[in-house]
Amino acid sequence: MQARGYSVTIQKLDPYINIDPGTLNPYEHGECYVTNDGAETDLDLGHYERFLNVPTSQANNVTTGRVYQTVIEKERQGEFLGKTVQVIPHITDEIKRRIQILGQSNKFDIVITEIGGTVGDIESLPYIESVRQLMWEFPDDTLVVHLTLVPYLNAAGELKTKPTQHSVKSLLEVGVQPDILVCRTEHHLDEAIRKKIARFCNVTPSAVIESIDASTIYEVPLLMQKEELDKVVLQKLGMEINAEPELKEWREFLHRLANPEDVVKIGLVGKYIELKDSYKSIAEAFVHAGVANQCKVELTWIHSETLNDDNVAKELNGLDGVLVAPGFGSRGIEGKISAIRHARENKIPFFGICLGMQCAVIEFARNVIGWNDAHTAEISSDTAHAVIDIMEDQKDLTEKGGTMRLGDYECRLIENTNIYEAYDSELINERHRHRYEFNNAYLKDFEDKGMVASGMNPNSNLVEVVEIPDHPWFVGAQFHPEYKSTVEKPHPLFIAFLKAALKRKTSKSLTKDMAG
Ligand code: GLN
Repeated sequence: MQARGYSVTIQKLDPYINIDPGTLNPYEHGECYVTNDGAETDLDLGHYERFLNVPTSQANNVTTGRVYQTVIEKERQGEFLGKTVQVIPHITDEIKRRIQILGQSNKFDIVITEIGGTVGDIESLPYIESVRQLMWEFPDDTLVVHLTLVPYLNAAGELKTKPTQHSVKSLLEVGVQPDILVCRTEHHLDEAIRKKIARFCNVTPSAVIESIDASTIYEVPLLMQKEELDKVVLQKLGMEINAEPELKEWREFLHRLANPEDVVKIGLVGKYIELKDSYKSIAEAFVHAGVANQCKVELTWIHSETLNDDNVAKELNGLDGVLVAPGFGSRGIEGKISAIRHARENKIPFFGICLGMQCAVIEFARNVIGWNDAHTAEISSDTAHAVIDIMEDQKDLTEKGGTMRLGDYECRLIENTNIYEAYDSELINERHRHRYEFNNAYLKDFEDKGMVASGMNPNSNLVEVVEIPDHPWFVGAQFHPEYKSTVEKPHPLFIAFLKAALKRKTSKSLTKDMAG
């Protein structure tokens, strides 16, 4: 749709009761994604940005908690005086209002609203009811796409349409007839299956869209185009079907992704690695930056809890670069510090993000400056050397939800540093999610010993980036660059990190050749 010239945004409605996923453990729902305006959101918004290259905002993610909070606040203010406040119409009105907010900005021709969960869930009922009402209120401007499952039974060698039939029936029970069925499947849907689904589910065969497993998620738009999903949508919405878009750049991206010229091995050190979705944006940023460098990025996921000074050389053996991930709390922190020490001492390109940057500061304080007790105030409240300390405006906060330093802040970069070279720009904007910061009281001690602050917030003087100039590439960022990487705009820091890793790999093999 976007390639056809329409402006599009996507929003996610999550039926759970949390106000936002900011307070959820990543094991529950994967990474918490942060938008420019500082909303802590579902990780799907990361996909929306990576595909559309258009920033999302708080309005793009709504939860049941947020809906109820708004309605209850209104009730307390007397907005419904005299009335019984009920799911219908009060909760559904609030859901409908939030579905329409993005469209009312006049910025978008099409708003895609994704409802999380499954048809039949108790908690998604008010959302489906809201959709039913909207279809009646705006019959020409709405359509419903239902994502269904067409499982393949190996033993019978057969695709089964029953689950699709049943979920459409469940939708019909609550008054919603889908216009389009997108069918998740492991095998191609032949004409007969499509016709069967169409007949049982009251849709035209052209509205039965195959959504087959793809080798990469980035192939999906092309597969959808092949299925003519875009045309069916435009036709049903009565919108102009203009010339078939070529999607040239997207195809070029896929071509490069499938045909790398080199391989680079990166270790991702974190404590949530059992659930890879916890680091979704980082993994995707590596895909984008790999394509930009014409190389495949082989990620080795390393559990920080299992690392220590004795095994780190073995565990990180063969890696061309090490990334230490963001995080909270003490679990696994000493392993992160061991990994950083190894990368620093062995001149392996290192990239630390948020807690990863804070650990780099702690490691440097302990092993280079010589303050054995150096720590972050997040973990050790009584250390004499709190090189990472709580931010002033965080000290008196008691509420946990949405109170971190969140979203876009400016950062000024110092010339002749790795970070400046990566961005080729003096002023940058990046997204944040933290409560602790580099303790400026110690800045001079660090600079004297060879770790510099190469990026600072121009207003608060908060250290945003640290580097070690006497190292091939050692960069720690307080912000989260991964949130801004898209297919169209791979992130400059990830590109630069991979470049450094490739350089190390090449020089290592040259040394080997010469020795041979
Ligand atoms: N826990 C650290 C802080 O709050 C780092 C947060 C992060 O890595 N996102 O400052």
